[in-house]
Amino acid sequence: MNGITIALSKGRIFEETLPLLAAAGIVPSENPETSRKLIIPTNRADVRVVIVRATDAPTYVQYGAADIGVAGKDVLLEHGGDGLYQPLDLKIAKCRMMVAIPEGFDYAHAVRQGARLKVATKYINTAREHFAAKGVHVDLIKLYGSMELAPLAGLADAIVDLVSTGGTLKANKLVAVEHILDISSRLIVNQAALKLKRETLAPILEAFAQAVK
Ligand code: ATP
Ligand code: MG
Repeated sequence: MNGITIALSKGRIFEETLPLLAAAGIVPSENPETSRKLIIPTNRADVRVVIVRATDAPTYVQYGAADIGVAGKDVLLEHGGDGLYQPLDLKIAKCRMMVAIPEGFDYAHAVRQGARLKVATKYINTAREHFAAKGVHVDLIKLYGSMELAPLAGLADAIVDLVSTGGTLKANKLVAVEHILDISSRLIVNQAALKLKRETLAPILEAFAQAVK
């Protein structure tokens, strides 16, 4: 394919990338929320969008099935950055990665006692590094979603999850006790495409950079 393929996940990343695409003169012809199409044409014959699962965006770009894409820093840390340029923080889909516990659980005390904590998360690698750096002993339990349920159902003592307003934690009687890192989404670019399709890609990347400012 000579044109440019852009990998986006639907939901907040698609929505928040739309203004950046518009700044580059790119307008998708359909909305993935209402369309079932996974390949979405744009107003430009040489640019298309592919709709992927958020965690799959780095994989599509790494293998060159997409030339560029958008992925959260959370996803990139878990995936590793192999074969990907990450030239730009798009400052969209902002949130924080936090450790959260059920209200009433004395986390600080448990940590001081050197207790071994069960922690449920989608972010095994990032969580492992965080707790190792703090010297907290943990058994990590991999989940794929609804982390908030884990402590309530007795699966785990704590979770590592993304928090924006804190509304979901509150609704489930959980409280955030540690901030791990600030998250936003990055532009990711296939390294070979950057060389081979520079003429088409460079103006798009430049327009994104200007729009982010
Ligand atoms: P799904 O919700 O379909 O299981 P997902 O959680 O991976 O998949 P999204 O919820 O669209 O997909 O999240 C995509 C990215 O948006 C995440 O990788 C993260 O960087 C960011 N994100 C997740 N939750 C929030 C939030 N509450 N506020 C802001 N950004 C968020
Ligand atoms: Mg989600």
